Amino acid sequence: MLRDKEMLFLVDAVTSLSGCKLNVYDWGIDICYSGAQKCLSVPPGLSPITFSEKALKVLNSKASKVQSWYLDLTMIRRYWGTERVYHHTAPISMIFALREGLRIILEDGLEERFGGHETLGGHLNSGLLELGFKLFAQEGYRLPMLSSVIVPDGVSDQEIRSRLLDDYGIEVGVGLGKTKGKIWRIGLMGETCKRQNIHALLSALRDLVR
Ligand SMILES: *Cc1c(COP(=O)(O)O)cnc(C)c1O
Repeated sequence: MLRDKEMLFLVDAVTSLSGCKLNVYDWGIDICYSGAQKCLSVPPGLSPITFSEKALKVLNSKASKVQSWYLDLTMIRRYWGTERVYHHTAPISMIFALREGLRIILEDGLEERFGGHETLGGHLNSGLLELGFKLFAQEGYRLPMLSSVIVPDGVSDQEIRSRLLDDYGIEVGVGLGKTKGKIWRIGLMGETCKRQNIHALLSALRDLVR
């Protein structure tokens, strides 16, 4: 839809890359970026990013200079390209780690990975509903690899999260912005997307929230 318009289609795929289908080319995504530390299960520090020809054209026709060195894509592009103009020292060890992460994913198979997240994400959500929790995201807008759960009335967000971490070794994310203190964000990504992790969390919540 945006293909013929003077508009770029940008997708934040930090949560989703390698956890569910992401057809960057077929879907006409102009700029798509992710992180190494979520479903790819690689140490944090790398952000895979891709640009369409259309996005590159916009980048190349920028009238003003980019203000920051850190994410000056006009420079990074020349570093990445055949010119190899210095921009930073590449984090080589991270690139090896990314390669290994990708190798492990492909060993399982991409479709298997997607299916695993879908199935286990569904299990987690059903388990939470069975315990009487309410999910924050409406049906049709839920990600398999991230469940957002409403903190029940009369339950202390802070207390439950600390006890989960201290007594059970499970960390859940807090709500951000308007949902601060109101929801928990439970990740089920890549290597952590395991049946035993779901059982551990559900049984901990059963103990802690009555
Ligand atoms: C985790 C996440 C981020 C933040 O990435 P960090 O590298 O942890 O700062 C941004 N967007 C989405 C969709 C995410 O899941």
